[in-house]
Amino acid sequence: MHLEEMKKEIEQLVLEKGFYNKPDDIPKKLLFAFIELGEASDAWKKGTSQEKIAEELIDVIFYILDTSRLACPSINMDEAFTKKLQKNKNREYQYGEEHRKTRTTQKPSERD
Ligand SMILES: [Mg+2]
Repeated sequence: MHLEEMKKEIEQLVLEKGFYNKPDDIPKKLLFAFIELGEASDAWKKGTSQEKIAEELIDVIFYILDTSRLACPSINMDEAFTKKLQKNKNREYQYGEEHRKTRTTQKPSERD
């Protein structure tokens, strides 16, 4: 299933269940995504099953895609993902990872 298909499934669920569905609800949805990230972190810290960790991460994806549906409805998220992936692929090694530069500036393959 692709992101755009997921968005449609999520929208159907939101409408069926009467969940928040207005642009004014966007901050709440983003907050819920953060809460789900916290749940994923807790699940990992507690050593719970990979299935439980994955479930919490999927909850994050649900809220993110649901937010995108309301916040940027004209954007195709599959295309946006592909575009952003390509942008990230074109970045330098350890781009934005300043903390790592204090440890090494070499790629793993260049170390002895
Ligand atoms: Mg959850």
